[in-house]
Amino acid sequence: MYDYVIAGAGSAGCVLAERLSREPGVRVLLVEAGGADRHPYLRVPKGVGKLFGDPAFSWHYRTRPLREGGNPEVWVRGKVLGGSSSVNGMVYNRGGRADWDDLERLGNPGWGWDAVLPAFRAIESNALGPSPTRGTRGPLHVSTVRDPDPLCDELIATGSAFGLRAVPDVNEEDGERIGYAMATIKAGQRFSAARAFLRPARSRPNLTIARQTTVTRVLFDGDKAVGVRVRNAGRQEEDIHARREVILSLGSLATPRLLQLSGIGPAEVLRAAGVPVRLD
Ligand SMILES: Cc1cc2nc3c(=O)[nH]c(=O)nc-3n(C[C@H](O)[C@H](O)[C@H](O)COP(=O)(O)OP(=O)(O)OC[C@H]3O[C@@H](n4cnc5c(N)ncnc54)[C@H](O)[C@@H]3O)c2cc1C
Repeated sequence: MYDYVIAGAGSAGCVLAERLSREPGVRVLLVEAGGADRHPYLRVPKGVGKLFGDPAFSWHYRTRPLREGGNPEVWVRGKVLGGSSSVNGMVYNRGGRADWDDLERLGNPGWGWDAVLPAFRAIESNALGPSPTRGTRGPLHVSTVRDPDPLCDELIATGSAFGLRAVPDVNEEDGERIGYAMATIKAGQRFSAARAFLRPARSRPNLTIARQTTVTRVLFDGDKAVGVRVRNAGRQEEDIHARREVILSLGSLATPRLLQLSGIGPAEVLRAAGVPVRLD
């Protein structure tokens, strides 16, 4: 039996799998609906545009029209080791002090800027070198543009002429500033959460990664989540139990979906879908 079952190997799931499996006596299972992240287009920063339409690498969530008379949209999310960090725009923009302090003020202790800055510094290997706001010893490679674009240079110069401060690292301060975005790129290649966090942990004997395996339900013993039901690539179902915790890191769309399929969510939505309500 596993101690922790982590559902979803995206940005969050890869970090959790690495952290929890640091303890050799703790058995961790990471379950991911997508496959391996070996396709070369996942490495080439712009290559991923070629994979967006491919259901083997992306989920396509179709919305209702967002306004009357409008068209539905299709929201893309990554479906591969690394999740959306394997298909995203790689922009590494950390938000300012006020954003984080607001988050804490809204009732999230431990999420203020003074608490998250050390965590940012710890995860980064920043190509601009160490500073009070940058780290250089972490697993996540962050860099700025290698070949500045003349049009962007003009834009930055114009911004500066209008009073914005041109800066080499837009994450360094909160003033009105302009500069190239930092990016999760190393030596011209995408640096996903799978590359940063999962790869170094992959060979640990206490970490099992189940790819092409979809979580279909959370399993309960009374009110306690004790495991998950999964379906593998051969469409076989299996119930997997967790001694300590079941962790849902399926992303902001798929996590509430799985909770709803498991009976947790707005009662009227669940009833309309024929799902017995466990918790409204
Ligand atoms: C196109 C795009 C561009 C973006 N650009 C940027 C950017 O430039 N900068 C930035 O900071 N952020 C960007 N983001 C957002 C960022 O990538 C996400 O916020 C982040 O990756 C979310 O992490 P997560 O762990 O919550 O979910 P995800 O990384 O999406 O991981 C969820 C994982 O769960 C898996 N999963 C889902 N359902 C199941 C199931 N039932 N069973 C098993 N596995 C399942 C998925 O396949 C996926 O691997 C972008 C996102 C997208 C989609």
